[in-house]
Amino acid sequence: MDCTENGPLGLGAVVVPSQGDATSPEVVAEVEGSYLRLSDAEFRARIRNAYRRMVACDLCPRCCGAHRLAGDTGYCGGALKANVFVWNLHRGEEPPVSGTRGSGTVFLSGCNLNCCYCQNYPLSQLHHGTQMSVGQLAAALVELQAKGAHNINFVTPSHQVPQLLAAVFAARQEGLHIPIVYNTSSYDEPSTLALLDGIVDIYLGDLRYTDEAVAMQLSGVADYVQVAERALIEMHRQVGDISIDEQGRYVPRGLIVRYLILPHHAGMAREVFGFVSRRLSLRTYVSVMTQYFPAYKAFDRVLGISRKLTDAECDRVMRTWSRSGLVHGWVQDMGDNGEA
Ligand code: SF4
Repeated sequence: MDCTENGPLGLGAVVVPSQGDATSPEVVAEVEGSYLRLSDAEFRARIRNAYRRMVACDLCPRCCGAHRLAGDTGYCGGALKANVFVWNLHRGEEPPVSGTRGSGTVFLSGCNLNCCYCQNYPLSQLHHGTQMSVGQLAAALVELQAKGAHNINFVTPSHQVPQLLAAVFAARQEGLHIPIVYNTSSYDEPSTLALLDGIVDIYLGDLRYTDEAVAMQLSGVADYVQVAERALIEMHRQVGDISIDEQGRYVPRGLIVRYLILPHHAGMAREVFGFVSRRLSLRTYVSVMTQYFPAYKAFDRVLGISRKLTDAECDRVMRTWSRSGLVHGWVQDMGDNGEA
């Protein structure tokens, strides 16, 4: 049986509003992106440093050494130009991100992970998308702002940080002022995240596994847990926790940790919540995702994830959450299937 709503799951003291709940009609405070306060000189230096790292690419923990400036393609599929699948207004993210008007989401192609269950595999693994110049991407960001987006939300950005920095810088000169969201698997290098300090306002960071062997089997990466935990600590250092202002609106600055429950692996929740509560903050907002369905290679029964979640698995995670001391977050249920 599939799990459905978060209502009957015995949530104890945990505050778990559903995705659609709003704290006020405005939901998200209108604030300008932190990057407006960065000097041109500092911004340019960050961009230069980022591009320099594409000579023998070490932008992400794969450190595969591709000479992307010379036209090589790395493990992630990343080359010199940004590869973008689509950009649009998206309302399926967490309330501080989607707000009332939607998030200006930029779906990037390629990925430094190789998740066998990826629901976006045409982008992440097959690299469907369009190579865009910095100017073209900057124009897309300005277009999203003109459509009313609360923010610019880069999805799977870890391998395209230089291009994104350059595009935000160029778009700033064209009037871009809304906050930047970095929406990541958390397989990120802290030194690359440091280039984003003072530029990104919201980190949407996954914590997918707490077992390196499972990460290796399902995502083809040997050190996911240690890398992701280190990255989340750096993200939290930069932006802290999401807060609510005096008008009851979310202030769009902070870290949101996403946890996707996988079939047969609900037991990892204990360590996920334990890490967040002990190493980040008890005020961290956690987004628990129960909408897993098999996609891509996950139909292979050998992998053990060829079905949806059961009620018992969801129930177990909710009970673990209620005992964790974490008091903020959301559950994305089956009704949100595929949108987050
Ligand atoms: S970002 Fe891509 S090219 Fe660079 S090290 Fe990682 S996998 Fe390799």
